[in-house]
Amino acid sequence: MRILENESMAIYSSFRIGGNAKRVCFPETREELVSLIRELRMNGEKYAVFGNCSNVLFPDEGYDGTLILTTDLVDVLVYGNVIVADCGATMNKLSIVASRNSLKGMECLYGIPGTVGGGIAMNAGAYGGTISDYIIGVSVLTDEGEIKELSKEDMEFEYRNTVVLKKGYIVLGGRFMLEEGNEEEIRQLMDKNMNSRKTKQPLSYPSAGSFFKRPEGYFAGALIEGAGLKGYRIGGAQVSELHAGFIINVGDATAKDVKRLSEYVVRHVKKEFGVTLEREVRFFGID
Ligand SMILES: Cc1cc2nc3c(=O)[nH]c(=O)nc-3n(C[C@H](O)[C@H](O)[C@H](O)COP(=O)(O)OP(=O)(O)OC[C@H]3O[C@@H](n4cnc5c(N)ncnc54)[C@H](O)[C@@H]3O)c2cc1C
Repeated sequence: MRILENESMAIYSSFRIGGNAKRVCFPETREELVSLIRELRMNGEKYAVFGNCSNVLFPDEGYDGTLILTTDLVDVLVYGNVIVADCGATMNKLSIVASRNSLKGMECLYGIPGTVGGGIAMNAGAYGGTISDYIIGVSVLTDEGEIKELSKEDMEFEYRNTVVLKKGYIVLGGRFMLEEGNEEEIRQLMDKNMNSRKTKQPLSYPSAGSFFKRPEGYFAGALIEGAGLKGYRIGGAQVSELHAGFIINVGDATAKDVKRLSEYVVRHVKKEFGVTLEREVRFFGID
């Protein structure tokens, strides 16, 4: 297992923001991940588990604990129509493996820059689908240190929320039951989704994707644009000109810049439309 001391969190965050963590660990197997967490818990040490850090804002001040990143835990195995994926495998890998095996259902995940564990925790989704659609089981480490197999119902999948986030479980991996399809057609849909991302999202700037959840009956981006905030900037953080639902790092943004800008956006959208925007991006160690 790779262990790095006093390591910058900004390197790993898709926002490219964050101070140093006391330690960053990269377990390579589920067993290594579980024993590391059990050991840290037993010693009363601070730790936090992330995947590809594509939906998190890390604090400028750093983290006086162990950051566990699952990105070296990457197996995706196919058994007929069932795919078993480790928590650290990317959702891109999951959808590519599915397509190569002529299995459909994962196309909507193609292009979401997170891991299976992060995707399951957040119930990630796009283009009308979510990661929960084809899930048949999730292996977790509970807050009490027990390994459990959760059914789809146990997972309490909601819009960008699950029992994993609510109870602080750790996802070790997920099982998906997919439908047989045509490889060429699956691939075409994946490419269509990816091309749509490339034209509609500000992918050349660091960000954490859509910053806010979609409020019932509205689109966050449209509300923010309607409030005249497209391009609005605080420090190095800016409301994207291309997609107002994204807050981007246009140069040396700090977590404080992003936080202040997001609060400004929430205030102005509330004033203009009476709608309260809720954050989708997870603030870690930031009040
Ligand atoms: C350009 C861009 C586009 C995006 N597009 C989309 C999109 O279309 N749809 C969408 O839903 N999201 C999108 N996102 C956001 C993000 O990619 C997803 O939320 C993704 O699911 C996060 O996965 P991750 O591995 O990066 O999680 P992280 O950011 O590392 O973590 C996110 C949360 O999940 C928790 N977590 C991570 N791994 C585990 C684990 N193994 N066990 C328990 N908890 C865990 C973390 O503690 C944290 O609370 C986008 C982001 C970017 C930068």
